[in-house]
Amino acid sequence: MSRGFYIGRFQPYHNGHHSVLKRIASLVDEIVIGVGSAQLSHTMANPFTAGERVLMITRSLNNLECPFYVIPIEDIQRNALWVAQVRSMTPPFESVYSSNPLVVQLFSEAGVDVYSPDMYERLIHSGTEIRRRMLNGEPWEHLVSPAVVDVIREIRGVERLRRIVRND
Ligand code: ATP
Ligand code: MG
Repeated sequence: MSRGFYIGRFQPYHNGHHSVLKRIASLVDEIVIGVGSAQLSHTMANPFTAGERVLMITRSLNNLECPFYVIPIEDIQRNALWVAQVRSMTPPFESVYSSNPLVVQLFSEAGVDVYSPDMYERLIHSGTEIRRRMLNGEPWEHLVSPAVVDVIREIRGVERLRRIVRND
């Protein structure tokens, strides 16, 4: 049984994440998905709650052949202990898939096999770009799965984001 770990903030979950996860699904028996900065929501960079992000991911991966677990992980303000924090919350895994330099460094130092998947059309498939489009009333729906569009509609996510910015 091999398990691979993939972590992001998923603000929101988009097609870049989705293409990477589909690739990982062909490489491992099970996928452990960490929802990072789980304690954050209702800010411009982190508008969605951990629960809302779990919903986006779980619904989007509905048809994935590979079993997966979606696990919120709160930030700790101590990078040296972060791998242990992740380990304490997740099923055992032996490989990590990430392009984030700090994630790569911390898991490599801990002796875990780390693989960096290729980026999928990174310029537009980026949480920052999708949030910018939501704020400006530009099309963003084609950059995420229909399930994510549904969740964001259900929680009135775009209105939330605009109100947050107005409050600032
Ligand atoms: P933000 O702009 O808010 O940081 P993001 O698009 O970078 O959002 P994250 O949740 O920060 O999304 O990223 C989670 C992981 O997904 C990171 O390792 C990141 O490198 C990776 N990733 C993000 N966009 C893509 C993409 N288009 N193709 C492949 N991997 C991606
Ligand atoms: Mg990012």
